[in-house]
Amino acid sequence: MNRAFGIDIGGTKISCALIDNNGNIKSEVEKIQTPKTKEEIVEALKGLILKYENEVEFIAIATAGAVNNQNNAVIGSTANLPKGYKDINFQSLSTKKVFIENDANCSAWAEYRIGSSKGYKNSIMLTLGTGVGGGIIIDGKLLKGKSGAAGEMHFAMMRNKKRSCTCGSFDCFEAYASGNGLKRTAAEILKDNSITTYNIIELASKQNKDAILALETWQNDIALGILGLSNLFDPDCFVLSGSMGKFVDAYKIEQFVNSKTVAMPTKIFHAITDNYSGMIGAVLLGNETL
Ligand SMILES: [Zn+2]
Repeated sequence: MNRAFGIDIGGTKISCALIDNNGNIKSEVEKIQTPKTKEEIVEALKGLILKYENEVEFIAIATAGAVNNQNNAVIGSTANLPKGYKDINFQSLSTKKVFIENDANCSAWAEYRIGSSKGYKNSIMLTLGTGVGGGIIIDGKLLKGKSGAAGEMHFAMMRNKKRSCTCGSFDCFEAYASGNGLKRTAAEILKDNSITTYNIIELASKQNKDAILALETWQNDIALGILGLSNLFDPDCFVLSGSMGKFVDAYKIEQFVNSKTVAMPTKIFHAITDNYSGMIGAVLLGNETL
């Protein structure tokens, strides 16, 4: 059979498909809006799984939020999923084995196995979307920490409590490097609190100087964070993914980081498994773990 049912649970949508053990998608990708309550999410997942579980060896789920080291429970819920989400008993959703892992960790694994960081044993994935997801691979192993929660991109940028963060602290990397971070940077520069990331990109493409400055400032903050991570982990490469990842000039950041790092030079890549990297990575990692 050599196939798994991969599911990616995000704050706005749930995607799923049959995926073989080499990471190839073998069915139509089905997408639904993420329901608003824990109970509705459980029902939706049961319905999707029921359709496919007889055709697969296991169920592989990439989810927002930190996942424990046993890969069976979410231990830290994210703000964009409903209350009680982390109490879901994922194994109870199927008669087949259910493997779960944090979505950014799954994306990091997909890129390491079949994507842009293939063959590099030390890599750091940054998923730049509404927030920032992080996945760190050291010596060919996913860095999970004592509980499974390692790789969260909440370290301070030393800005003297300038900007609050979703985690309750101030000035985290995420508060600057995320899509929301770009919005806040642009709001400061353009003096417009209602500006969207879409507006910023569009204005910049029309050569609006303030929008270009906002994008550059955002990118410089990403570069500073990557420089710090490079010094801490000395990775072979970084992989940028997520809806905002494509707006980053990887070459420029690589030049900056390598001119300042106290570790050895690193490489910056754009992800290539992108949209479905979460579920593909969940299947590849589950296949190697179970
Ligand atoms: Zn934070």
